[in-house]
Amino acid sequence: MYRESRTGANWQARSACRREDPELFFPIGDTGPSLAQIEEAKAVCRYCVVIEPCLEWALESREAHGIWGATTEAERRRLHRLARPVEPTR
Ligand code: SF4
Repeated sequence: MYRESRTGANWQARSACRREDPELFFPIGDTGPSLAQIEEAKAVCRYCVVIEPCLEWALESREAHGIWGATTEAERRRLHRLARPVEPTR
């Protein structure tokens, strides 16, 4: 599989998913039958040599859909929340 990149980064040429069905990486939800699909997609990511730049790109571009760098959109939203600076309380 080869996904379009807004950055044009060439790391995608080495991705483990370039020969996979793109649908695998875009489950319709994150419950029920989608859980098995998510785990299958993440299993591909876990042996991918470009998992780090992929996740970095997905976080920087705030990619809202799909599995990128072995994360779901909900997991990336959580990472963004954790990275947000904490406002001092008064
Ligand atoms: S980490 Fe996953 S989604 Fe990203 S390029 Fe590799 S296989 Fe594809």
